[in-house]
Amino acid sequence: MTKSFYSSINKEVKSIKSDGLFKEERLISSPQGTKVTLNDGSEVLNFCANDYLGLASNQDVIMAAKNSLDEDGYGMASVRFICGTNNAHTRLEKELSEFLGYEDCILYVACFDANGGIFEPLFGPEDAIISDSLNHASIIDGIRLCKAKRFRYEHSDMVSLEEKLNEAKNSRYRVIVTDGVFSMDGTYAKLPEIVELAERYEALIMVDDCHATGFVGNSGKGSAEHFGLEGKIDFLTGTLGKALGGASGGFICAKKGVVELLKQKSRPYLFSNALSPSIVKATLKALELVREQPERRRRIFKNTIYFRKQMKSLGFNILGDEHPITPVMLGDANVAQRMSKELLNNGIYAVGFSFPVVPKGMARIRLQINSEHTVEELDKAIKIFKKVGTNLKVI
Ligand SMILES: *Cc1c(COP(=O)(O)O)cnc(C)c1O
Repeated sequence: MTKSFYSSINKEVKSIKSDGLFKEERLISSPQGTKVTLNDGSEVLNFCANDYLGLASNQDVIMAAKNSLDEDGYGMASVRFICGTNNAHTRLEKELSEFLGYEDCILYVACFDANGGIFEPLFGPEDAIISDSLNHASIIDGIRLCKAKRFRYEHSDMVSLEEKLNEAKNSRYRVIVTDGVFSMDGTYAKLPEIVELAERYEALIMVDDCHATGFVGNSGKGSAEHFGLEGKIDFLTGTLGKALGGASGGFICAKKGVVELLKQKSRPYLFSNALSPSIVKATLKALELVREQPERRRRIFKNTIYFRKQMKSLGFNILGDEHPITPVMLGDANVAQRMSKELLNNGIYAVGFSFPVVPKGMARIRLQINSEHTVEELDKAIKIFKKVGTNLKVI
């Protein structure tokens, strides 16, 4: 019996490999940054990190973490409600809620857990969760853990959303759930229309702003601020593992009563160890830099606009809104894989994505522009894209 189990596992791995879909980890032997050193000693320009504001290797952020190790030790060795709450945890919850414009905030060890822990305590069988079809895997899993009725609307299709709102008319509560920014496409959710529909159909709204918190919107408050819709989103989830320093951690911002209830009932919060204080204090520093260094946000969008324009003028098919996530559409999975390999041979680290991460026939190289990319680095990448793209007959 166990023998057939293991042989079936090995068979599945083999078939993933023969389909060309096996994901390898590439080893990096330097800190995260616009340039990274690979294990073979080569230095490459990095266009894959979620480190939008370059804070992952920022000296002030690192120092905050180091100081915390001296002041607070290495770990809490407890869940929050037993003896795992350092005063830094509550400070970060307070500062995140103030920054993002909410009454309260609850931290998790990852946004995956925040999304996994938000639905089940708040919604039951009488309720309806109406979710965008391209929402992040953690949202899909979180919804699965909850007994509410599930409705899936076509990606960013407001006609489809309205249909689902109608179908869910008799539910006690309705909640519309969407990523603020779709990470494979670099597009924003249609929040103005979603807010309008939510008001008309008396629905709540949950937004996952992992690819927005800290750098999208005039002061970095995310996709609601981008559209001038602050205060309209009931539940906001986000990560500390992207623009806010890049270590790990997640959060939910909401009204006070909601956070109070989540702290009583949300399972990833109740049954998982607290975030290390060093991460919490480094995130507090990252948040301070977000507030005090708006030039990082200006640089990232200046870089984004420049890069997208140059790439389009070379003839590349670039998807998305003016967000630092810049997908170069290729279609064929093999082309994406070969292109990624060729780019790396030429010193550009940019990963290809194909099915099942994106729909079949819509393979792409997804680039992420960083506030710390210099114009020289962007120009070098553009030049190499031109060369590799020409060789592969993509342009
Ligand atoms: C990255 C991401 C997550 C997961 O965040 P972690 O903090 O890394 O667990 C959740 N949702 C979206 C939309 C993301 O992009």
